[in-house]
Amino acid sequence: MCGIVAAAAQRDVAPLLIAGLKALEYRGYDSAGLAVLEAGEIRRVRAKGKVREMESLYLAEPFPGGTGIAHTRWATHGAPSEANAHPHIAGRVALVHNGIIENYASLRSELQARGHVFTSETDTEVMAALIEEQIGKGHGLREAVLNTVRALEGAYAIAVISRDEPGRVVGARRGAPLLIGVGIGEHFLGSDAQALIKITNKIVYLDEDDVADITRDSMQVFGLDGQPVDRTVHESELSADAVERGEYRHYMQKEIFEQPRAVADTLEARIGPQGVLPNIFGVDGEALLKRVRGLHIIACGTSYHAGLVAKYWIEEYARLPVSVEVASEYRYREAVVPDDTLFIAISQSGETADTLAAMRESRRRGYLGTLAICNVPESSAVREADLKLMTRAGPEIGVASTKAFTTQLTALALLTLQLARQRGLDDARYSDLCAQLQHLPRAIENASPACAFSWPWGAVSGSAGRLAQAQGNFIHPRRSLSCRRAETWPTGLGR
Ligand code: GLU
Repeated sequence: MCGIVAAAAQRDVAPLLIAGLKALEYRGYDSAGLAVLEAGEIRRVRAKGKVREMESLYLAEPFPGGTGIAHTRWATHGAPSEANAHPHIAGRVALVHNGIIENYASLRSELQARGHVFTSETDTEVMAALIEEQIGKGHGLREAVLNTVRALEGAYAIAVISRDEPGRVVGARRGAPLLIGVGIGEHFLGSDAQALIKITNKIVYLDEDDVADITRDSMQVFGLDGQPVDRTVHESELSADAVERGEYRHYMQKEIFEQPRAVADTLEARIGPQGVLPNIFGVDGEALLKRVRGLHIIACGTSYHAGLVAKYWIEEYARLPVSVEVASEYRYREAVVPDDTLFIAISQSGETADTLAAMRESRRRGYLGTLAICNVPESSAVREADLKLMTRAGPEIGVASTKAFTTQLTALALLTLQLARQRGLDDARYSDLCAQLQHLPRAIENASPACAFSWPWGAVSGSAGRLAQAQGNFIHPRRSLSCRRAETWPTGLGR
C-alpha cells in the first residue's frame, strides 16, 4: 500500500508534496518521486528508498511550480528502482498510481504495436501512455483520463498532470483510496487525510469510480459517465498532533505508550456496569447478531492475526463456529456459506484492497450481513458494511502494528461478549469477563513500559497463540531486560 499526494496551488508545491509523502510513510513503500509543472515544463525527481533520499535529490536542485503530483511506491510490477518509481511520464503527461492494473499486459502490447516505447516494467505506465494518446486525439486532460479509466481492469488511485493544462490535476479512484483536500485558494489530492492534515482539515471523500478535477480555485467530481456528481466537504477530526513523534524515539515507541488510551477509547460508551451496551455495532445490530449461527472473518496481515485470536474466544464463549481466512484467498475461491453466517471484515485502514474486494464479493454469496472492524471512520469498508465497530487507535505509523492490533482485539472482545451473552453465557462468567475487559487499560498502564501484561481471557494455544505471542513480544521490546516473569500477550497466563 503506497501513497499519493498532489496539489494545485499558487505557492511552490514540492515541499508540501514531500511533507505529505512523509505523513504517508506508514503505509509502507520502497521508492518515492514527484513531478512539478511550471512554465509548460514537467520536472521530475525519483529515488529508490526513503522519501528523504528523494528529498535530498530535490533539495540539491530544487524547482519551483504550483502544480504537482507525488508518490510512494510499493512495487507490484517491476522491481523497486528509479526507473520503475513514479511519476511516469508519457509525452506531455505525468502520472502517479496506487494499485494494480490487471489488464496491463494486453494494453501494453497494443500500445507497443502502435509505436509506444516503454521505459519501465510497471503496469502503471500504460495509463500514462493511454492518456497521452487520448490527448493526442484532441481530448482535454479530464476527458482523456475518463476515456482511459473506462478501459482499465483492476484497482487504481491516480493523479495526473499535463503540460497542456497548467494548474490542473485530475485524479480517479477504483478500489484504492483517494480524497480531495480543500484549502484556501488551493486544492489537493491525497491517499488519506493524514497526508493533508497540516494544510487543511476540509476533506471530500471520493466514491468508487469518481474522477476529480482540481485547480487552484475549483474542484469538480465526475462519475465514470462523465456527468458531474455532488460530494460533501467533511471536516476531518484528525489532529496534526496525532502524527507528531514528540519526545519518543520512534513512532512505534509512542504508539506502545498510547495503548492504554487507545484501548480505553475503544471501550468508551460501549461497555458499562451491566455489560456491553445495546447496538454498539449499529442500528439493528443486536437483532442481527441474535440470528447469527456462524462467522467468517476475512482480513489481511495483522488484522488476520486478530481474527485468529477472536476465533478462540468466540468459539469458547459464544459456542459459534468461526472460520478465519486471508482475504486474498477468500476472494478468489467459492466459499461455502452456511445459512445465517455473518461476514466480518477487519482492516485498520478500511481500504485494504483484498479485504474490500472480499467484502464486495460477500454480497453475492448470501451472508446474513457484514460487519466491519476498522480504525478509519470514513473508509470504504465502513461505508459499505451493514454493521461497524470502530477501533479508536488513532493513526498508527509504526510497522509492525501495536495499538491498531490491541484495539482490534478489544473490539473483537466486545463482539465476543455480545454474542456470548445472547447465547446464554452464565451471568457470573459474563460479569467477570466484562470486568476484566474494563480493567484492561489500567492493566496495560501498570505493565508498561518495562513489563508485559496478560490478556485477562485465558490462554490461546496453537498457531493463533504463537502468532499473537510474537506480536506481544514485539510490543514489549524491553521486556527481556526487565521482566522477571515470562509473561505473554495477549495469550495470557491463565484465567
Ligand atoms: N502497480 C504499480 C507499480 O508497481 C503501483 C504500485 C503501488 O501501489 O505503489 O508500480
